[in-house]
Amino acid sequence: MKPTIVIGAGFGGLALAIRLQAAGVQTTLLESRDKPGGRAYVYQDQGFTFDAGPTVITDPSAIEELFTLAGKRLDDYVELMPVTPFYRLCWEDGEVFDYANDQAALEQQIARLNPDDVAGYHRFLDYSRAVFAEGYLKLGAVPFLSFKDMLRAGPQLARLQAWRSVYDKVSAFVQDEHLRQAFSFHSLLVGGNPFSTSSIYTLIHALEREWGVWFPRGGTGALVQGMVRLFEDLGGTLELDARVERLETADNRVTAVHLADGRRLDAGAVASNGDVVNTYAKLLGHHPRGKAKAAALKRKRMSNSLFVLYFGLNHHHQQLAHHTVCFGPRYKELIDEIFTADHLSEDFSLYLHAPCVTDPSLAPPGCASYYVLAPVPHLGNAPLDWRVEGPRLRERIFDYLEQRYMPGLRSQLVMHRMFTPDDFHDTLDAWQGSAFSLEPILTQSAWFRPHNRDSRIANLYLVGAGTHPGAGVPGVIGSAKATARLMLKDLT
Ligand SMILES: Cc1cc2nc3c(=O)[nH]c(=O)nc-3n(C[C@H](O)[C@H](O)[C@H](O)COP(=O)(O)OP(=O)(O)OC[C@H]3O[C@@H](n4cnc5c(N)ncnc54)[C@H](O)[C@@H]3O)c2cc1C
Repeated sequence: MKPTIVIGAGFGGLALAIRLQAAGVQTTLLESRDKPGGRAYVYQDQGFTFDAGPTVITDPSAIEELFTLAGKRLDDYVELMPVTPFYRLCWEDGEVFDYANDQAALEQQIARLNPDDVAGYHRFLDYSRAVFAEGYLKLGAVPFLSFKDMLRAGPQLARLQAWRSVYDKVSAFVQDEHLRQAFSFHSLLVGGNPFSTSSIYTLIHALEREWGVWFPRGGTGALVQGMVRLFEDLGGTLELDARVERLETADNRVTAVHLADGRRLDAGAVASNGDVVNTYAKLLGHHPRGKAKAAALKRKRMSNSLFVLYFGLNHHHQQLAHHTVCFGPRYKELIDEIFTADHLSEDFSLYLHAPCVTDPSLAPPGCASYYVLAPVPHLGNAPLDWRVEGPRLRERIFDYLEQRYMPGLRSQLVMHRMFTPDDFHDTLDAWQGSAFSLEPILTQSAWFRPHNRDSRIANLYLVGAGTHPGAGVPGVIGSAKATARLMLKDLT
């Protein structure tokens, strides 16, 4: 049998390759960069280690399942450490909310903001758990290949009022504006605008309450390495610096992949973990199916991009939590601009990552590594010159952090580096520089999202943020389960 090829070693590609290899399908994983991980790439500089992307690791059971099905133990590959609080939420008016898995502490903080909202929070939690059971446990790893699948899910989605937005639904339960933000911002973690994304995404709250928030010892990169080691222990082959340029086809089947280094590899089946628009536009651009599908996808709404600033300090800010959300002066107006404006906003909201709080080994002794990110418009909406805007935004963010969160920051700086929408576009081949692929609105979710198996090219599959269920580490690991289910049925 010709080998099965997975293109891209992001979390989705890795999880799929593990599932295939564990089921006895000889699998080759081709990654264009010099390291695996995709958005979870790792930078090392002057003794500082930076996870480039995901840092909030949720649903450890989905990760554990990959090791169990391969007959191995997760603990032998990577150690997951609990993070408390899950996040610290801070506002400019001085309010601070430590969001943790401690019901009494949560209720106390909610009551301080608005006593009536404690009962509302209970109802919100019940709602979020109902959505979690339906949208994540039941449908999160099911491939939506036909409209009938969608119709089957319809009544439940209607009962849960999936047409309402996250913010709208949260606002029906709690009145205090801080709490409305605290329980609605989560969809931003997967590229969803809380004011237009389906209320189904409130399930993230229940998911975090159910399984907690975790951080791998050694950083998210250690989890990537653990998954690579598992894949290789099972006999799989990972090739780095191996960029696929074109899929060769015959009779509406993929027959081989062509690499940038000139090689041609025979393939019995191919799954792409690369950007979904560019999978069709570039890898299959010579085929009528590729042309048509790429044109259709280019009309869809893409998620926002991100500006990420990694920096190492010769000082450890012990006062910080591992994860801090720094809300700016505006919420809805700012988010509207992030998703639709053609320019950068005057203000920003930030996510600040301080991993040395949990794992000091990520920086030299006495030092600490950090990253801070600001959601920004994608290049399709705001085609900015990031060579100019990047350094400007960096300076504004450093000023803000120094004034409000990290006194002395500038004098403590050892090194810094940026990742802009241009880098999402150029380094990760992300269409319009989107950080999370297609925006997860209801009309671009489930059956409406690109399917886990192409409907014309029978042995071409998709895995990762651009297919069902969507972005985020649990999402793409779920997509690998859905795609593997189809591939194993077709291949074995
Ligand atoms: C800054 C940031 C922070 C985030 N934080 C979190 C978080 O805390 N928690 C969370 O759950 N999620 C988070 N996310 C979202 C999450 O990281 C992503 O949704 C997820 O990692 C995407 O995985 P993926 O499988 O789609 O592949 P990607 O990570 O996109 O990887 C795709 C891989 O395919 C490779 N590739 C592409 N084209 C080719 C080709 N032609 N040939 C060979 N290789 C190719 C790329 O080089 C890349 O390595 C974050 C994202 C970002 C950007």
